[in-house]
Amino acid sequence: MRAARLALPAILAALLLAVAPGRATAATPLYAGTGWKAWTANGIYSLAPDSYKIVFADSTARTKLASYYTTPATQVTTSVGVPLTVTTTLDDTPLESCPPRHVIVVHYLYRPTGRAGVSKALACHDTADGSAWGGHLLMDSEYWTSLSWFSTNASLNDIYRKNVVTHELGHILGLDHPNYDRDGDGTVEDFECVVSDAGWLPVECAPNGGYRSSTGAGKFLTAYDLAGLKQLAANYGMG
Ligand SMILES: [Zn+2]
Repeated sequence: MRAARLALPAILAALLLAVAPGRATAATPLYAGTGWKAWTANGIYSLAPDSYKIVFADSTARTKLASYYTTPATQVTTSVGVPLTVTTTLDDTPLESCPPRHVIVVHYLYRPTGRAGVSKALACHDTADGSAWGGHLLMDSEYWTSLSWFSTNASLNDIYRKNVVTHELGHILGLDHPNYDRDGDGTVEDFECVVSDAGWLPVECAPNGGYRSSTGAGKFLTAYDLAGLKQLAANYGMG
């Protein structure tokens, strides 16, 4: 591939690189790596290069949750190279329907799955090319209405909140849980994911993971989730 690319006239090669960043070094799409897994089971194989928007189902969702998206949206924009904008827009697309292309609707709901403490991502995908389309993020309001839902330590509790918000966003962008049978006992268990030297799990680890530090709260882990999102972006158009 590289030799063929170099043999092309210079102006054509430059054009190809301009329209297909990331393809020069990866010849085939990848759907899993260390600490990440693409949500192919839900039809998502890639992340489209044009921008995605976060909007809100109502003003309560916006007031409670908008600030939680700043950190992961900045990471996706700057590190993955896919613009992800946190807007103030309200959107009333019903849960049964996919929102417009590349719109992610955030809901603030009490036990959206009927189970205590469980949030859910309803991810849509582009049926033409298998890229992430957007969808609905159903965040369980209990994390906020119950002051110590995750921890009696207030700062740690908020770190967990930030991480679960980012976890659900990761699903919409095309990440599945990267849990695997690390201890070889034949069962893939909760929190059974690769662990970093510092002891952190991928934020996408089920039921939750992420940095347990104030500076890392709400961030996709660089070596795991973020590497996966970068590969999903690189996959676009390769499949
Ligand atoms: Zn999950």
